[in-house]
Amino acid sequence: MNKDARIYVAGHRGLVGSALVRALRGQGYENLALRTHAELDLMDQKAVEAFFQSEKPEYVFLAAARVGGIYANNSYPAEFILSNLGIQTSVIHASWKTGVKRLLFLGSSCIYPRECMQPMKEEYLLSGPLEMTNRPYAIAKIAGVEMCSAYNRQYGTRYLSVMPTNLYGPGDNYDLQNSHVLPALIRKFHEAKLRGDSEVVVWGTGTPKREFLYSEDMADACVYLMNLPEEKFSSLLAPSAPLTFPLINIGYGEDLSIAELAQLVKEVVGFEGKIIQDASKPDGTPRKLLDVSRLNAIGWSAKTGLRDGVTLAYNDFLSR
Ligand code: GDP
Repeated sequence: MNKDARIYVAGHRGLVGSALVRALRGQGYENLALRTHAELDLMDQKAVEAFFQSEKPEYVFLAAARVGGIYANNSYPAEFILSNLGIQTSVIHASWKTGVKRLLFLGSSCIYPRECMQPMKEEYLLSGPLEMTNRPYAIAKIAGVEMCSAYNRQYGTRYLSVMPTNLYGPGDNYDLQNSHVLPALIRKFHEAKLRGDSEVVVWGTGTPKREFLYSEDMADACVYLMNLPEEKFSSLLAPSAPLTFPLINIGYGEDLSIAELAQLVKEVVGFEGKIIQDASKPDGTPRKLLDVSRLNAIGWSAKTGLRDGVTLAYNDFLSR
């Protein structure tokens, strides 16, 4: 991308989108097209096309999505499938109609099968049944991956799907019901510390394992991928095995159990009481560690360690 390239970040107020805007500006990209949800409804195909016609973005980061943790996914399945299908369909189609040069479609590691071999390689997509608690979201995202692939094949577009692991960082959703585990634990331990509680309740058995990547590392990886020289970018769009997807994992490379995570957050926050597991709450997928060898092979790896990242995220939580 030239420094004056016209770049559209869809979802620039979200966890990844806001990190992307900071990363792009930090690297001298100032020609950004940004619209809030109130200014542009990404479910409205006509409005999205009009926006693309007038703004003519050359590069698109599709980071807009309806997202949430295990409770939200389980409680609002219809909204999760509708919003995600709607948003990605409008943006991908409008990108093709207006000749966008490159597009990154952001998904999630929950697109892989529930009982997937670990670590999860890109080629394991669609190799088995999905986890029930977030299947509507996952199927919408898989449709987006296929849509990028289909447009590349039929129209010669250059759309790459990137699948991040669980993300956390500045501007996260700290809602106790609807958020993901890491921000929820930051808030739970912090509030328990202030109240002087003797215990904090953590959902599930504590045994599921999760991998966490700091949102600014995710943004850095996305800008790196978007900027790859032609030959390397093409090699990601056309993986060697036939019929595999233009898809790349973005992860940290290591995971830990929810019980270990709770212990770490407890230490960072400075809560001194006990941790209680509530096994009546769902565990979700037993494990979802991404294989990041494709990403490492093209020269990128995560920089922010988990304890450092949780400390940064806790400071962000305190400064809200
Ligand atoms: P998932 O990765 O799609 O399963 O989504 P989450 O980040 O919401 O949950 C990850 C794991 O953390 C699940 O096993 C949850 O049961 C567990 N967990 C423990 N405490 C919490 C909590 O307070 N909030 C959330 N969202 N998950 C929790």
